[in-house]
Amino acid sequence: MSTFKTIDNLDVAGKRVLVRSDLNVPMHDGKPSDTTRIDRSAETIRDLAAKGAKVIILSHFDRPKGKVVPEMSLKPVAEAMASALGRAVTFATDTIGDSAKAVVAAMKDGDVAMLENVRFHAEEEKNDPEFAKKLAQLGDIYVNDAFSTAHRAHASTEALARHLPAAAGRLMQAELEALGNALEKPQKPVAAVVGGAKVSTKMEVLGNLSKKVDMIIIGGGMANTFLFAQGHDVGKSLCEKDMAAEALKIIADAAANGCEIVLPVDLVVAAEFAAGAANKVVGIDGIPADMMALDVGPATIADVEKRLARCKTLVWNGPFGAFEIAPFDKGTNAAAQAAARLTREGKLLSVAGGGDTVAALAHAGAADDFSYISTAGGAFLEWIEGKTLPGVAALEG
Ligand code: ADP
Ligand code: MG
Repeated sequence: MSTFKTIDNLDVAGKRVLVRSDLNVPMHDGKPSDTTRIDRSAETIRDLAAKGAKVIILSHFDRPKGKVVPEMSLKPVAEAMASALGRAVTFATDTIGDSAKAVVAAMKDGDVAMLENVRFHAEEEKNDPEFAKKLAQLGDIYVNDAFSTAHRAHASTEALARHLPAAAGRLMQAELEALGNALEKPQKPVAAVVGGAKVSTKMEVLGNLSKKVDMIIIGGGMANTFLFAQGHDVGKSLCEKDMAAEALKIIADAAANGCEIVLPVDLVVAAEFAAGAANKVVGIDGIPADMMALDVGPATIADVEKRLARCKTLVWNGPFGAFEIAPFDKGTNAAAQAAARLTREGKLLSVAGGGDTVAALAHAGAADDFSYISTAGGAFLEWIEGKTLPGVAALEG
């Protein structure tokens, strides 16, 4: 990530500004059932309209696979956007056709319009240059506000940026700034928490982070694989035994990079994966053959809290245990609350992301206090894997 333009660097007054938002919201009975994405995306649109731009919103919705699917129209989303903005949003019933052209031609400065689902055209997901050119004819400036789709090179997220002056919207800007502060130029020491079910899904995350952070604190099911690799018996625990060699290699590579891999020192075990299952705390050599580790134990929590207190920056992906089933949410809750408290006290910059991680931090009541929580899912993961996101690269100048 280098430099990218923002709305502040552009003169948008009187210009037609194509804004790519991610308005792929959950829908129930033909209406958005959760408007978080719409509300958050509204900021950029409001900002541009206030500056006198003609704001034309582009988004995908669901997976119509290149065909017009009436149930996947953005029309109800345009109506919800109008409510969020408190002003009219004109809807074009196509994306690059007569309706789109007529709607855009009729706009006055400060007006807002939305075009139909970009994925009604198969060319969108193919990053087709001709389709991008047709989109570009509808605008003078391109603003990408959809970090969550930036890991895909699609016409409205990548090719379009090459046809028009391009900048990051407010949401994209906030995401890039938060992520940059956490991994590009962080205050040290930097800790990463990596948890979740399987080490096989987090190999690239671990590899990249071990080059960038001072310690990786490992929890969740994947900790079992590391413990098994080090010769501990893990009983019936979730464990990828065929990943043992890779786990040892991660530890060795991390050590060579000056990064410490921190594993649990005690665990909470139960005979079954079920809420309220009878459980006990054991040392890492005490997992009974007929039981499974479902959370980290109190000594591990104390160790994690002590380590976080010494760090200035934290990147978090993956829960410490099976947080969906109490009481195996304790480790995740305690660590999340410790990070939240340190952040509130101004001692820690904390950035987190990942589908289950967002849910786990909300469950712990810690979400509001983290410096930044990315809801971008796949794009966040690819970013912590150190990959170039095409939608972001296209904005770099
Ligand atoms: P994210 O979506 O944030 O990247 P993951 O999908 O990698 O996170 O991991 C989340 C899942 O890991 C949760 O469903 C949780 O129940 C599971 N998990 C965590 N610890 C354990 C464990 N010790 N045993 C079994 N499953 C676990
Ligand atoms: Mg997950």
